[in-house]
Amino acid sequence: MKSWKDNVRAVIPYVPGEQPEGNIIKLNTNENPYPPAPAVSSVLKDFDAGRLKKYPKPLCDGLVKALSDWFSVAPENIFTGTGSDDVLAMSFLTFFNSKEKEPVLFPDVTYSFYDVWAKLFDIPYAAVPLKDDLSIDENDYIGRSNGGIVIANPNAPTALSMPLSVIEKIVKNNPGSVVIIDEAYVDFGGETALPLIEKYDNLLITRTFSKSMSLAGSRIGVAIGSKELIRFLWDVRNSFNSYTMDSITQEIGIAALSDRAYFEENIKRIISTRENFSKELTALGFSFPKSSSNFVFARHQELDSTVLFEDLKKEGIYVRHFNGDRVKDHLRITIGLESEMERLVDFLKAYIKEGRGRKNGL
Ligand code: PMP
Repeated sequence: MKSWKDNVRAVIPYVPGEQPEGNIIKLNTNENPYPPAPAVSSVLKDFDAGRLKKYPKPLCDGLVKALSDWFSVAPENIFTGTGSDDVLAMSFLTFFNSKEKEPVLFPDVTYSFYDVWAKLFDIPYAAVPLKDDLSIDENDYIGRSNGGIVIANPNAPTALSMPLSVIEKIVKNNPGSVVIIDEAYVDFGGETALPLIEKYDNLLITRTFSKSMSLAGSRIGVAIGSKELIRFLWDVRNSFNSYTMDSITQEIGIAALSDRAYFEENIKRIISTRENFSKELTALGFSFPKSSSNFVFARHQELDSTVLFEDLKKEGIYVRHFNGDRVKDHLRITIGLESEMERLVDFLKAYIKEGRGRKNGL
């Protein structure tokens, strides 16, 4: 007999980083350690609750205008969503519909939501191996038939970035498919592909307010692309759920964009902390690709990363550990406050000195 279970879309979901409460050092989900711009607090303080009886603006007009000023593009070049996860999911749904079932290409080590969306939407995909040094070989994305390409630049969790010229080579050589460049971390040292938007109508850039804007809790994501691409995205959005971003969040986004000086100051502080922390990590025997992001992806020849991960947690220091074969030796450590990174370094110094967490036989 037929069971309703035969009709279920059963999926293996993405596993987000833990969100523990309390007095801990939280370096596991690449959040910004600094609060959002002061203007955001004013929005929250002054917001008239009476406005909530009405639906929010479905096309986020005010926020889109503020974003168009921020990025120096037309409002028609901008799409918004509730976090870049939402924007990326909509983009997979909109652009990756290869009639010949050609695979969407992305690196084997990258943001682990990409393959989840591909499976959810039944999109064929191929995970393209990174080089041994965890960098991307752009030639793997050229001359290979595909139904689309997604590249995080800087990549996550490796933190490595590619120059604009390399991104352009990929976009230019794939006029038959949409190339998504996920720039969630670009503000921390990557090179943006924004200058290419005018030139290539198959390029879509995604951005988030969760990292450099200190607004992970608000869920604001953005896509920037040719007017034609963006129109297709809004059409799919409005065939799915029109009122996704609430009115308070739209105001919060506008407020955050009103203070570029505050934004730049925060980025500067995080980069400076990252550079100090990187030196300390190297001195302790860790190795990691050079970070262009707000995290480092580090491993230690003699330490068992799983044991260290658990020991750090017992100490109230949360970092991220992934299980994949190529990454399980590493820990992804978000750059927090200077004082938090100092605490972590002090812990690691004592840990290594006491001979804890060593790999079997070392
Ligand atoms: N892209 C990458 C590469 C990420 O690491 C993240 C954060 N997990 C996202 C997109 C999604 O971020 P958000 O939904 O918070 O905008």
